[in-house]
Amino acid sequence: MSRFNVRKVAVLGAGVMGAQIAAHLVNVKVPVVLFDLPAKEGPKNGIVTKAVEGLKKLKPSPLGIPEDAALIQHANYEEHSELLKDCDLIIEAIAERMDWKLDLYKKIAPFIAPHAIVASNTSGLSITKLSEVLPEEIKPRFCGIHFFNPPRYMYLVELIPTPTTRPEILDQLETFVTTAVGKGVVRAKDTPNFIANRVGIAGMLATIKEAENFGLTYDVVDDLTGKKMGRASSGTFRTADVVGLDTMAHVVKTLQDNLADDPFFPSYATPPVLAKLIEQGALGQKSGAGFYKKVGKDILRLDPAKADYVPAGGKADEIVARMLKKAAPERLKLLRESTNPQAQFLWAILRDSFHYVAVHLADIADSAREVDFAMRWGFGMQQGPFELWQAAGWKQVAEWVKADIDAGKALSKAPLPAWVFDGREGVHTAEGSWSAALNKYIPRSTLPVYARQHFPEAVLGSGATDPLKAGTQEFKNDEVRVWSLDGEVLIASITAKLHLISPTVTEGLLKAVEIAEAKYKGLVIWSPDDVFSAGANLEALMPVFMKSGAKGIAPEEKKLQDAMLRIRYAQVPVVSAIRGIALGGGCELSVYSARRVAAMESYMGLVEVGVGLIPGGGGLAYIARRAAEMASAANANADILKFLTDGFTNAAMAKVGTSAIESRKLGYLLWSDVIVPNKDELLFVAIQQAKAMFESGYRAPAKTLFPVAGRNAIATIKAQLVNMRDGGFISAHDFHISALIADVVCGGDVDAGSLVSEEYLMALERKHFCGLLEHPKSQERIMGMLQTGKPVRN
Ligand code: NAD
Repeated sequence: MSRFNVRKVAVLGAGVMGAQIAAHLVNVKVPVVLFDLPAKEGPKNGIVTKAVEGLKKLKPSPLGIPEDAALIQHANYEEHSELLKDCDLIIEAIAERMDWKLDLYKKIAPFIAPHAIVASNTSGLSITKLSEVLPEEIKPRFCGIHFFNPPRYMYLVELIPTPTTRPEILDQLETFVTTAVGKGVVRAKDTPNFIANRVGIAGMLATIKEAENFGLTYDVVDDLTGKKMGRASSGTFRTADVVGLDTMAHVVKTLQDNLADDPFFPSYATPPVLAKLIEQGALGQKSGAGFYKKVGKDILRLDPAKADYVPAGGKADEIVARMLKKAAPERLKLLRESTNPQAQFLWAILRDSFHYVAVHLADIADSAREVDFAMRWGFGMQQGPFELWQAAGWKQVAEWVKADIDAGKALSKAPLPAWVFDGREGVHTAEGSWSAALNKYIPRSTLPVYARQHFPEAVLGSGATDPLKAGTQEFKNDEVRVWSLDGEVLIASITAKLHLISPTVTEGLLKAVEIAEAKYKGLVIWSPDDVFSAGANLEALMPVFMKSGAKGIAPEEKKLQDAMLRIRYAQVPVVSAIRGIALGGGCELSVYSARRVAAMESYMGLVEVGVGLIPGGGGLAYIARRAAEMASAANANADILKFLTDGFTNAAMAKVGTSAIESRKLGYLLWSDVIVPNKDELLFVAIQQAKAMFESGYRAPAKTLFPVAGRNAIATIKAQLVNMRDGGFISAHDFHISALIADVVCGGDVDAGSLVSEEYLMALERKHFCGLLEHPKSQERIMGMLQTGKPVRN
C-alpha cells in the first residue's frame, strides 16, 4: 500500500460535530481548515469564528488546551474554496439533509485534489446515494466516516464504503484514522444508521418500551442500565438527554423512513413521551430539560403520568444489584427467573438485544466482532451483546430467547436465524468472528497499521493473549511483572490496584532496572489498563506510621526517592508509557524517567496538597532542577525564580493536566517526549523510543549540582501567599503547605544561586513531608481521602 500523506484536512460544517472534529485534528497535530457557509452579516467567516470560540468553552473540552483553537484555519465556501485543493482529506459534517449535502458536493467538486479522499460524517444517510452526484473520478475516493459525539473522547469511528469506493482508499483512511487520529475503526455496511446507532438506538427504544411494560421510573432504569450493567454510567435516559432528544428522534426517523421491511419495524415507532418532550422543546441537557430537569442543585425526573417533574434518585433494588455482580451465566439465569420486575425488565432488554443483533447481523456488519466493538466504543459498553451472550452460555441463552419469541414476549416475531442453533458455542473464536452473510468465521484485519498494536482490544472468546501473561517473564512479585516481548526491551507492568506505588512496587521497579541494565536495551514502564499510577500507596505505609510515627516513614520515603534517582541514572533508558492518570508518585515516576510516551488522554499532576502533604518522591526536586535548567538555557544570569513560578504554582495548587498536551504545559511532559494519539499504540511507540535511544548511544544524564533560587525567593513567594491567605483564597493550612513547597523548590535557607544536589533537595522534601504527616490538619485530609476518596478542605 502506498503511503497516504495527510498534509491538511478540510472539515466542512462548523456545527456540533464539524467543529469538534477539527479540534481533535488539532490535538493530534493534523493541520485543518474548517469551512461553513458565508455569514449573511458581518465578516464572511462569522459562523466558523463563532464555532471556534465556542470550542474553548465546551465541556468536556474538545481541545487539549483551549489556546490551540487558534490553529484551526477559518474558511467559507464563497471566498476560500481554492483552499480545498491543498487538502488530502475532506470530511463533510454539515446538517443531516441529503439535498443540502448533494448541493455542497456539486459546489466543491471542482476544487477537490485528484488524489484526495472525500468522506461524509452523516449519521445515517445512504453513503451510496450521497456518492451518486459526485463526478466519476471522485466516486472511488468517497466513503462514510462516522465519528461519535464527543469525537475527542469517543473511540469509535465507523468507515462505510460504497460499491464504488476503491478498497485501498478505505485502507488508507483506516490507517490514518487509527494511528494519526487515534480512533478505533469499525467497518460498517451502508445500511441505515450503520452499526452502533442502529443497534444502540433500537436498544434505547426497546428499553423505553420495556420500562413502561414493567412500570419502572427513569431514574431506576438509569441506575440499572448504567455502571451496574457494565454500560456507560449515564444509563439510558440521561444518555438520551446528553445526546439531545431531537438528535435521537432524527436517528429514529432514519429507521422509520428506511426500514419498512425490517421485522422490528413496529418497535421503531417514536415513543409518545419522546414526541411530547420534543414538541414542548424539552430536548435534553442543551435546553435544560428532557427526561430529567435540573432545578438549582436538585435533579428531577419526568413523571409521565403527572406530566410533571418529580424528585429523582430512585435506585436499583439491592437484590437486583447483587444479581448483576454474578458471572454472566448465573446473572442471566437469575434475572430471567426472578419475579422482581426490575430483574424481569433487565432480562427483557437483554433478550431484545440478543434477538435484534442475531436477526440483523447478516445485513449490517461483516461479522459479530464489528457489532461488539461498535457497541463498546460507540455506546460505552464493557461488553458487546454477542460477547455477553457467548459468555452467558450460547446454547442456553438461545433457547431462552427462542422461548420468549414463541411466547410472544419479544419485540418481533422474527425467529432467530438458523445459524444460531447449528451447535455452536458462540460467535467469537480464535479463528475469527462469525459472519452471518458469508457463513464463516473471519479473522481480524491484517492492515499493517495494526502491527503497531501489540495488545489490541479484543472480543471475549477470540483467544487474545493477556498482556500480563505474554512474552518472557523475568521477574514477578505481588504488584509488578517484569517481562519482555522481543528480548530487546524490558517491560515493567505495575499490577497493583490503581497502580499505587508501594514498597513492593518500588522493589519490582528496581529489580527491573537491574535486569534491564544487565541484558536489555531499555526499560519501558507500561501496564495494559487505563491508568499509569494514582500515586504513592499511603495505606501501605499506615502500619509503619502507626508503629513508629513519621520517623518510621522517613526511611521508606528515602527508598522511594532513591528509586527515582536509580531510574533517572540507569545505564539504559527508562521510558514511561503513560495513559490515564499519573498523579503524585505516578507523576514523579514519569518525570524521573529518561523519556515519556503519553497517550492523548493522560492526566498528570502533583496532587499531594489534596491530602495535606507535599510531593515527597522527588517531585519538588524535579521542579527545582527543571527551573535551573530552563534558566541556564535562557541565559547564564537568568533569575531562577522566574522559571520556578509555574512549577511551584502547579504543585501548590495540585493542578492536573486535562490532556497530555496540558500536562506538557504544566511541565510534566517535555517537548522531547512523545504524545501518541492511539492508546493501543502506546507500548509499541515506547519500545521504539527505548530502542532508538539505546541505539543512538544513550548515556544517563550527568549528575551535577545546580543553582537554586534561595531564601529571597522564598520570601517573595511567601509574601504572595500571605495575600492569598488574608484575602481568604487559601486556608491557613494551605498557606503552611505552600510555604513548605516554596522552601523545597527554592532550596531552603541558602543564598540565591547556591549549588545543591538532588539528594539535598530530597532531604528537604522528607523533612517537610514527615512534619506534615504529624500535623492534625494533614491527618484529617489523609483520613478523609482514605475513607471517602474525596479531598477534605480545611
Ligand atoms: P449542526 O446542526 O450542529 O451543524 C451543521 C452545520 O452545517 C452548521 O454549521 C451549518 O451552518 C451547516 N450547514 C447547514 N446547512 C448547510 C448547507 N446547506 N450547506 C453547507 N453547510 C450547511 O449538525 P451536527 O450535529 O454537527 O451534524 C453534522 C453531521 O454530523 C450530520 O450529518 C449529522 O448526522 C452527523 N453526526 C452528528 C452527531 C451528533 O451527535 N450531533 C454525531 C455523529 C454524526
